[in-house]
Amino acid sequence: MTSATERREQLKAVYEDARGCTRCPLHQTRTTVVFGAGNADADLMFVGEAPGATEDKQGVPFVGQAGKLLDKLLGEIGLDRGQVFICNTVKCRPPNNRDPHPNEIESCHDYLRSQVELIEPTVICTLGNFATKLLRGDTTGISRLHGQAEVRTIGARAIRLYPLYHPAAALYTPSTLEVLRADFQRIPDLLGLGAPPQPETVEPDPVPADVGGLNPADGDRVAGDDSALAPEPDATQLDLF
Ligand code: URA
Repeated sequence: MTSATERREQLKAVYEDARGCTRCPLHQTRTTVVFGAGNADADLMFVGEAPGATEDKQGVPFVGQAGKLLDKLLGEIGLDRGQVFICNTVKCRPPNNRDPHPNEIESCHDYLRSQVELIEPTVICTLGNFATKLLRGDTTGISRLHGQAEVRTIGARAIRLYPLYHPAAALYTPSTLEVLRADFQRIPDLLGLGAPPQPETVEPDPVPADVGGLNPADGDRVAGDDSALAPEPDATQLDLF
Protein backbone atom coordinates (compact mmCIF):
# COMPACT_ATOMS: atom_id res chain seq x y z
CA MET A 1 0.00 0.00 0.00
CA THR A 2 1.16 3.52 -0.75
CA SER A 3 0.21 6.09 1.90
CA ALA A 4 -1.88 9.16 1.13
CA THR A 5 1.18 11.32 1.77
CA GLU A 6 3.26 9.37 -0.74
CA ARG A 7 0.48 9.46 -3.32
CA ARG A 8 0.16 13.20 -2.88
CA GLU A 9 3.90 13.68 -3.37
CA GLN A 10 3.78 11.52 -6.49
CA LEU A 11 0.85 13.57 -7.77
CA LYS A 12 2.87 16.74 -7.28
CA ALA A 13 5.65 15.17 -9.34
CA VAL A 14 3.17 14.43 -12.14
CA TYR A 15 2.03 18.04 -11.92
CA GLU A 16 5.62 19.26 -12.23
CA ASP A 17 5.99 17.09 -15.32
CA ALA A 18 2.72 18.37 -16.83
CA ARG A 19 3.66 22.01 -16.19
CA GLY A 20 6.37 21.83 -18.81
CA CYS A 21 4.50 19.50 -21.17
CA THR A 22 5.09 19.88 -24.91
CA ARG A 23 3.50 16.59 -25.95
CA CYS A 24 0.89 18.19 -28.19
CA PRO A 25 0.42 21.46 -30.07
CA LEU A 26 -1.79 22.95 -27.34
CA HIS A 27 1.35 23.91 -25.44
CA GLN A 28 2.03 26.58 -28.07
CA THR A 29 -1.15 28.51 -27.33
CA ARG A 30 -1.83 27.87 -23.64
CA THR A 31 -1.16 30.41 -20.92
CA THR A 32 -1.18 27.90 -18.06
CA VAL A 33 -1.42 24.14 -17.72
CA VAL A 34 -4.67 23.42 -15.89
CA PHE A 35 -3.64 20.22 -14.15
CA GLY A 36 -6.55 19.85 -11.73
CA ALA A 37 -7.45 21.00 -8.25
CA GLY A 38 -9.01 19.82 -5.05
CA ASN A 39 -8.47 17.05 -2.58
CA ALA A 40 -5.67 14.72 -3.65
CA ASP A 41 -7.25 11.96 -1.57
CA ALA A 42 -10.82 12.49 -2.76
CA ASP A 43 -13.35 9.69 -3.14
CA LEU A 44 -15.12 11.72 -5.80
CA MET A 45 -13.46 12.99 -8.96
CA PHE A 46 -14.91 15.02 -11.82
CA VAL A 47 -13.43 14.92 -15.30
CA GLY A 48 -14.50 17.66 -17.68
CA GLU A 49 -13.49 18.41 -21.24
CA ALA A 50 -10.87 21.13 -21.50
CA PRO A 51 -9.98 24.42 -19.86
CA GLY A 52 -11.65 27.54 -21.19
CA ALA A 53 -10.34 31.10 -21.24
CA THR A 54 -10.77 31.79 -17.50
CA GLU A 55 -9.23 28.46 -16.53
CA ASP A 56 -6.31 29.07 -18.90
CA LYS A 57 -5.62 32.40 -17.20
CA GLN A 58 -5.99 31.17 -13.62
CA GLY A 59 -4.62 27.63 -13.97
CA VAL A 60 -7.65 26.23 -12.13
CA PRO A 61 -10.37 24.05 -13.68
CA PHE A 62 -14.02 25.04 -13.77
CA VAL A 63 -13.76 28.61 -12.54
CA GLY A 64 -15.98 30.17 -15.25
CA GLN A 65 -19.77 30.00 -15.56
CA ALA A 66 -19.87 26.21 -15.90
CA GLY A 67 -17.68 25.98 -12.81
CA LYS A 68 -20.03 28.16 -10.81
CA LEU A 69 -22.86 25.82 -11.70
CA LEU A 70 -20.72 22.83 -10.74
CA ASP A 71 -20.06 24.48 -7.34
CA LYS A 72 -23.77 25.06 -6.86
CA LEU A 73 -24.69 21.46 -7.71
CA LEU A 74 -21.98 20.21 -5.37
CA GLY A 75 -23.37 22.43 -2.62
CA GLU A 76 -26.83 20.95 -3.14
CA ILE A 77 -25.46 17.52 -2.21
CA GLY A 78 -23.52 18.88 0.76
CA LEU A 79 -20.09 18.95 -0.86
CA ASP A 80 -17.60 21.60 -1.86
CA ARG A 81 -14.52 21.73 -4.03
CA GLY A 82 -12.22 21.02 -1.13
CA GLN A 83 -13.72 17.54 -0.81
CA VAL A 84 -13.47 16.47 -4.46
CA PHE A 85 -10.87 16.51 -7.21
CA ILE A 86 -11.67 18.26 -10.50
CA CYS A 87 -9.73 17.96 -13.73
CA ASN A 88 -10.16 17.65 -17.50
CA THR A 89 -9.39 15.24 -20.34
CA VAL A 90 -6.90 17.78 -21.69
CA LYS A 91 -4.92 20.06 -19.43
CA CYS A 92 -4.39 22.92 -21.90
CA ARG A 93 -6.97 25.17 -23.50
CA PRO A 94 -7.78 24.47 -27.15
CA PRO A 95 -7.61 27.76 -29.09
CA ASN A 96 -10.96 29.56 -29.29
CA ASN A 97 -12.52 26.83 -27.17
CA ARG A 98 -12.64 24.41 -30.11
CA ASP A 99 -13.12 20.73 -29.32
CA PRO A 100 -9.94 18.93 -28.29
CA HIS A 101 -8.50 16.83 -31.12
CA PRO A 102 -8.02 13.06 -30.70
CA ASN A 103 -4.22 13.39 -30.73
CA GLU A 104 -4.42 16.02 -27.96
CA ILE A 105 -6.67 13.82 -25.82
CA GLU A 106 -4.36 10.85 -26.39
CA SER A 107 -1.24 12.88 -25.58
CA CYS A 108 -2.79 13.98 -22.30
CA HIS A 109 -4.27 10.62 -21.33
CA ASP A 110 -1.26 9.54 -19.26
CA TYR A 111 -1.74 12.50 -16.93
CA LEU A 112 -5.35 11.54 -16.33
CA ARG A 113 -4.41 7.89 -15.78
CA SER A 114 -1.84 8.97 -13.21
CA GLN A 115 -4.36 11.20 -11.49
CA VAL A 116 -6.82 8.32 -11.16
CA GLU A 117 -4.13 5.95 -9.98
CA LEU A 118 -2.75 8.34 -7.35
CA ILE A 119 -5.96 9.93 -6.08
CA GLU A 120 -7.74 6.55 -5.95
CA PRO A 121 -11.30 7.90 -6.27
CA THR A 122 -14.17 5.47 -5.82
CA VAL A 123 -16.52 7.47 -8.07
CA ILE A 124 -15.55 9.36 -11.23
CA CYS A 125 -18.18 11.63 -12.76
CA THR A 126 -17.43 12.25 -16.39
CA LEU A 127 -18.86 15.59 -17.47
CA GLY A 128 -20.06 15.50 -21.06
CA ASN A 129 -19.16 13.49 -24.12
CA PHE A 130 -15.39 13.83 -24.27
CA ALA A 131 -14.60 12.51 -20.81
CA THR A 132 -17.32 9.87 -21.01
CA LYS A 133 -16.12 8.49 -24.34
CA LEU A 134 -12.51 8.56 -23.26
CA LEU A 135 -12.97 6.77 -19.94
CA ARG A 136 -15.51 4.25 -21.28
CA GLY A 137 -13.42 3.62 -24.37
CA ASP A 138 -16.36 3.72 -26.76
CA THR A 139 -18.40 6.18 -28.74
CA THR A 140 -21.75 5.97 -26.95
CA GLY A 141 -22.94 9.50 -26.25
CA ILE A 142 -23.83 11.20 -22.98
CA SER A 143 -27.56 11.50 -23.69
CA ARG A 144 -27.81 7.69 -23.64
CA LEU A 145 -25.51 7.18 -20.68
CA HIS A 146 -26.06 10.01 -18.20
CA GLY A 147 -27.14 8.96 -14.74
CA GLN A 148 -26.16 5.30 -15.17
CA ALA A 149 -23.26 4.24 -12.99
CA GLU A 150 -21.10 1.32 -14.03
CA VAL A 151 -17.94 -0.27 -12.73
CA ARG A 152 -14.97 0.31 -15.02
CA THR A 153 -11.30 -0.42 -14.72
CA ILE A 154 -8.98 2.49 -15.36
CA GLY A 155 -5.32 1.59 -15.24
CA ALA A 156 -5.01 -0.72 -12.25
CA ARG A 157 -8.14 0.57 -10.47
CA ALA A 158 -11.78 -0.35 -10.59
CA ILE A 159 -13.99 2.69 -10.08
CA ARG A 160 -17.65 3.59 -10.32
CA LEU A 161 -17.96 5.64 -13.49
CA TYR A 162 -20.93 7.98 -13.46
CA PRO A 163 -21.53 9.93 -16.68
CA LEU A 164 -23.23 13.31 -16.32
CA TYR A 165 -24.18 16.09 -18.69
CA HIS A 166 -21.54 18.79 -18.87
CA PRO A 167 -22.59 21.79 -16.74
CA ALA A 168 -21.98 24.08 -19.73
CA ALA A 169 -24.73 22.21 -21.58
CA ALA A 170 -27.09 22.93 -18.69
CA LEU A 171 -26.34 26.64 -18.41
CA TYR A 172 -28.95 27.77 -20.90
CA THR A 173 -31.17 24.69 -21.17
CA PRO A 174 -33.42 24.33 -18.14
CA SER A 175 -34.50 20.77 -19.02
CA THR A 176 -30.85 19.63 -19.15
CA LEU A 177 -30.21 21.37 -15.83
CA GLU A 178 -33.06 19.47 -14.21
CA VAL A 179 -31.69 16.15 -15.49
CA LEU A 180 -28.18 17.07 -14.33
CA ARG A 181 -29.50 18.09 -10.92
CA ALA A 182 -31.45 14.83 -10.55
CA ASP A 183 -28.37 12.81 -11.57
CA PHE A 184 -26.26 14.76 -9.08
CA GLN A 185 -28.65 13.83 -6.27
CA ARG A 186 -27.62 10.17 -6.68
CA ILE A 187 -23.94 10.85 -6.09
CA PRO A 188 -24.10 10.49 -2.27
CA ASP A 189 -25.63 7.01 -2.61
CA LEU A 190 -22.93 6.01 -5.07
CA LEU A 191 -20.25 7.23 -2.70
CA GLY A 192 -21.96 5.27 0.05
CA LEU A 193 -21.36 2.05 -1.87
CA GLY A 194 -17.62 2.49 -1.43
CA ALA A 195 -15.01 1.23 -3.84
CA PRO A 196 -15.94 -1.66 -6.10
CA PRO A 197 -13.91 -4.88 -5.76
CA GLN A 198 -10.41 -4.18 -7.08
CA PRO A 199 -8.70 -6.30 -9.74
CA GLU A 200 -6.24 -8.76 -8.30
CA THR A 201 -2.79 -7.23 -8.06
CA VAL A 202 -0.11 -9.19 -9.86
CA GLU A 203 2.25 -10.76 -7.37
CA PRO A 204 5.85 -9.65 -7.90
CA ASP A 205 8.39 -12.29 -8.84
CA PRO A 206 10.08 -13.89 -5.84
CA VAL A 207 12.75 -11.55 -4.50
CA PRO A 208 16.30 -12.90 -4.51
CA ALA A 209 17.72 -12.97 -0.97
CA ASP A 210 20.70 -10.72 -1.77
CA VAL A 211 18.72 -7.54 -2.60
CA GLY A 212 17.58 -6.96 0.92
CA GLY A 213 13.86 -7.44 0.29
CA LEU A 214 13.64 -4.67 -2.30
CA ASN A 215 12.24 -5.49 -5.67
CA PRO A 216 12.82 -2.63 -8.13
CA ALA A 217 9.96 -3.86 -10.28
CA ASP A 218 7.57 -3.20 -7.41
CA GLY A 219 8.75 0.33 -6.63
CA ASP A 220 7.87 1.73 -3.22
CA ARG A 221 5.03 -0.72 -2.68
CA VAL A 222 7.49 -3.15 -1.11
CA ALA A 223 8.44 -0.65 1.56
CA GLY A 224 6.30 -2.33 4.18
CA ASP A 225 3.30 -1.34 6.22
CA ASP A 226 2.82 2.39 5.92
CA SER A 227 -0.42 2.55 7.81
CA ALA A 228 1.29 4.59 10.53
CA LEU A 229 2.01 7.34 8.00
CA ALA A 230 -1.47 8.78 7.97
CA PRO A 231 -1.36 12.36 6.70
CA GLU A 232 -2.23 15.44 8.71
CA PRO A 233 -5.95 16.17 8.27
CA ASP A 234 -5.33 18.82 5.60
CA ALA A 235 -2.21 17.30 4.09
CA THR A 236 -4.04 15.89 1.10
CA GLN A 237 -5.25 19.20 -0.29
CA LEU A 238 -3.51 19.74 -3.59
CA ASP A 239 -2.67 23.40 -3.23
CA LEU A 240 -0.57 23.74 -6.32
CA PHE A 241 -1.36 27.21 -7.44
N1 URA B 1 -15.27 23.27 -19.11
C1 URA B 1 -14.50 22.18 -18.90
O1 URA B 1 -14.75 21.12 -19.43
N2 URA B 1 -13.47 22.30 -18.11
C2 URA B 1 -13.16 23.42 -17.49
O2 URA B 1 -12.18 23.43 -16.75
C3 URA B 1 -13.97 24.54 -17.71
C4 URA B 1 -15.03 24.45 -18.53
